[in-house]
Amino acid sequence: MKTMAMLRATMLAWIVLCGVATATDGRVGQAQSPDERAVAYTTPCGEPKALLTEIWIAGKDDAIPRRIRTFLGPPGDIWFTPGGKGIVYRQRGLSYTAFGSYLCGGREVPLVGDRTWRMSADDSDASLRPLTEDADLSAMAVDSATAVARTPDFEDALSLAERQVTQGALSGIDSALRLCAKAREMARRENFPAARRAYKAAARAFDALHRRYRKAGISEADCRSYVKALNRCADVDDDGLRQAVCRERVPVLGDLIRLYAQEHGDVLPSSLDTLYTWMEGRVDAQPDADVRARDVRVLRHLFHCASDPDESRRISFVYRTEAAGDSPALTCLWHRGVALNLVGQPEAFDLEAQALSADQVDSLTGVADACLAAGDMSRAILFLGGVAQQREKDADAYTRLGHACLKAEDYTRARWAFETAAHMSRGEVLSRAYYGLGLVCLAPPQDLSCPRGRIVWGKGCSCITRSTT
Ligand SMILES: [Zn+2]
Repeated sequence: MKTMAMLRATMLAWIVLCGVATATDGRVGQAQSPDERAVAYTTPCGEPKALLTEIWIAGKDDAIPRRIRTFLGPPGDIWFTPGGKGIVYRQRGLSYTAFGSYLCGGREVPLVGDRTWRMSADDSDASLRPLTEDADLSAMAVDSATAVARTPDFEDALSLAERQVTQGALSGIDSALRLCAKAREMARRENFPAARRAYKAAARAFDALHRRYRKAGISEADCRSYVKALNRCADVDDDGLRQAVCRERVPVLGDLIRLYAQEHGDVLPSSLDTLYTWMEGRVDAQPDADVRARDVRVLRHLFHCASDPDESRRISFVYRTEAAGDSPALTCLWHRGVALNLVGQPEAFDLEAQALSADQVDSLTGVADACLAAGDMSRAILFLGGVAQQREKDADAYTRLGHACLKAEDYTRARWAFETAAHMSRGEVLSRAYYGLGLVCLAPPQDLSCPRGRIVWGKGCSCITRSTT
């Protein structure tokens, strides 16, 4: 009796654990066959986020449905094919929560894009492949929006052993996602070797899923896209990893812009500085000191691009309030050969990576000149800094940046820019860099009454003399 009671308790525990199959994150979706004799269902597995979706099918009067497939990720859309012999399933990718997005309601980023699969309703396919992107879904799927069916009891349809396999698969996916999170965190902290190791480990974990949990219905083709995506992340160079961090960050800034507009009568922030200051005010209102400290750190990371060589710069991005038109609302110019743009309207911003040609980099210099002429020094310096970053061996680009910083009385950045130019140039270009350095040294205020002031003054004179000889 005692053994039976323990067995019942164990089974109850598993049912509670595995009850996630029909729970919470995402509804149970359904599609009705064209002859109205069968219904296909999608059921989410996993809490608090659905990590797997089971595809079930049942005759209209069947009490017990039959599971035919399991896909990674939360439930997507499901249809029958026109003849009723097949099922089309639009799969959604597993996702992670973007860094800092908790400040504005959270943002989920899929690890892989949506994919569409076609399978036979009796699961007679020996292998399964996703359809190509250009597949005509309207020709192969029947609109089942009117399908209404009672939800069968999925709990009773699988044995305890089958449920245990599903539970194991959920744990395996959770472990793989934790490795992905570790990789992203290491990349954010610029520990790139550790990030690559974690991405590789995550790829291996996804590769093992279909072998270890084939009985749960997970296919190799499903896991393969995750393996490819994660191996690609592991193979990029350091700036590629910084760019991946920035690609996650820029849309969150878009969410903050939208949040600001929502709370200011649909008026966009006049500058990113305004947005930052407003967010700091919200953070300061937090009663918990630890939460405040965490949020201050998060804000600092969100507004700064890791590829921006100036770590002291508060805001790394170019922002345009007139963004409602075709121009991007926000741009990051710090990744070589590419501009990351936030495009579209505030209610639906989108990230767009734009390859930068030499002509486009030239045009950025023109934009910077226009900003200089208009007295918008901070924006001019951002554009000129971006141009210098794009042309890392162009001493003139750094010299131009140095003069803009000098004009803005930002002597620390001016000195860095002229010194960088001097290190990479010779001849006339070197003279211009020294001339700039001399101007930085001679810039007011100068205290010639102290030894250090006299040394700096002498160095400035020496630089200018050197630039003219
Ligand atoms: Zn960036």
